[in-house]
Amino acid sequence: MESIVLFGPPGAGKGTQAQRIMDSTGLPQVSTGDMLRAAVAAGTTTGIEAKKFMDAGKLVPDEVIIALICDRIQDPDATNGVMFDGFPRTIPQAEALSKITEVSHVIAIDVPDERIVERICGRYTCGNCSSVYHDTFNPTTKDGFCDNCDSTEFKRRADDNADTVLSRLSAYHEQTSPLAKWYIERGIFHQIDGDRAIDEITTDILSALK
Ligand code: ADP
Ligand code: ADP
Ligand code: ZN
Repeated sequence: MESIVLFGPPGAGKGTQAQRIMDSTGLPQVSTGDMLRAAVAAGTTTGIEAKKFMDAGKLVPDEVIIALICDRIQDPDATNGVMFDGFPRTIPQAEALSKITEVSHVIAIDVPDERIVERICGRYTCGNCSSVYHDTFNPTTKDGFCDNCDSTEFKRRADDNADTVLSRLSAYHEQTSPLAKWYIERGIFHQIDGDRAIDEITTDILSALK
């Protein structure tokens, strides 16, 4: 099985692009952030442990994340690989991943720090189907109705605020960005300019995956 990694700072557009390329790749999106938020909502031991790190904008410990992924990869829909969104985020996570699945492409969505805060602070998602929107850059077509499922329920994340974003960005620069070199050395790293229209980025990702 061969998997894809979507890599980039918080708010780069990983989730947005994952939803758009899911049909073309045929691979399910595996977002460690979504899995952690589900664990927090369910009040599991993992959720309780992870919440304090997430609220502070810090990375959740590697062993927690690696255990989640080892479980998820056993699911029947993961047989042909998955599209990782927000994983791996540290070298130990990448090392653990290399032992459980082959990674064919790392798609790095590059967005300058000064854009990140405005992206994160305007983000909202559909409460029913999880489609991702933005107050200014990517609003719903019909005010108050999800484009995909017509739901009128929307959510904003507790950690999508200006203070937490700064910690999340420093965690990215200190702990996650060194992974770029790790993957460049392995010849599977594709850098995509993420500071453009959503459609243009999707086109570039799909050609990098060919
Ligand atoms: P990530 O999964 O990397 O954290 P998201 O896909 O959730 O990022 O996107 C963060 C926010 O930025 C969302 O509100 C989304 O609608 C918006 N967004 C995504 N891609 C773009 C883009 N190319 N230009 C402007 N806004 C974008
Ligand atoms: P974003 O792409 O906007 O940063 P995510 O939904 O990917 O948001 O992650 C939200 C939070 O969940 C992170 O700030 C971090 O606390 C935690 N998290 C998600 N994925 C990982 C991971 N692979 N390693 C460690 N912590 C993670
Ligand atoms: Zn919806």
